[in-house]
Amino acid sequence: MSKSAASKLAETIRHATGCNVVECYQCGKCTAGCPMAKYMDLMPSQIMRQAQIGDDEATDRLLKSNAIWLCLGCLTCTQRCPQKLDPAAVIDALREMSNERGAVSAKQRKVLAFHKAFLKCVEETGRMGEVPLTSLYKMTSGDLFSDVLMAPLMLTRGKLPLVPKVIRGRKAVKRIFAACRKGGKP
Ligand code: SF4
Ligand code: SF4
Repeated sequence: MSKSAASKLAETIRHATGCNVVECYQCGKCTAGCPMAKYMDLMPSQIMRQAQIGDDEATDRLLKSNAIWLCLGCLTCTQRCPQKLDPAAVIDALREMSNERGAVSAKQRKVLAFHKAFLKCVEETGRMGEVPLTSLYKMTSGDLFSDVLMAPLMLTRGKLPLVPKVIRGRKAVKRIFAACRKGGKP
């Protein structure tokens, strides 16, 4: 596919990630190495192909897929790509689009709640803290009681520090988040 034939979705992804999905030649190496591929409704190479097509139907399929929320961000796909493409970043961009457009499927709402809680913790403290993350997730997901019996054991083993640790450079982290929201540079 020539660069001029790139879909609007492909251009949006390129702007957000620097990854030009048009250059994917569908070798499937990303999918072959992905530990989550067998659980995904669209495998990484299929995600790249749908992003190349990028019409309304393909965009809808991508933004409503469970695959974009099952991705672990392990970067195996990105490391394996012979074209030096970055499927993991493409998936990250699709997650943001899916959230912004309210397209997240009902099945993935808890993953979305966790995703938001994780980002909020990092934005506020500069790192992930077990107690703030769990509290925020529980409040926003409605998933109040699962795993709750593990808490006493984790507390006694020092795995749940009650006072969250913060990093010294958290103002810089906040600036990064603010710049990302504006789509610019810190
Ligand atoms: S490994 Fe790279 S070129 Fe091959 S299918 Fe995946 S993204 Fe496309
Ligand atoms: S980053 Fe996501 S898509 Fe890529 S290999 Fe890991 S789980 Fe699979």
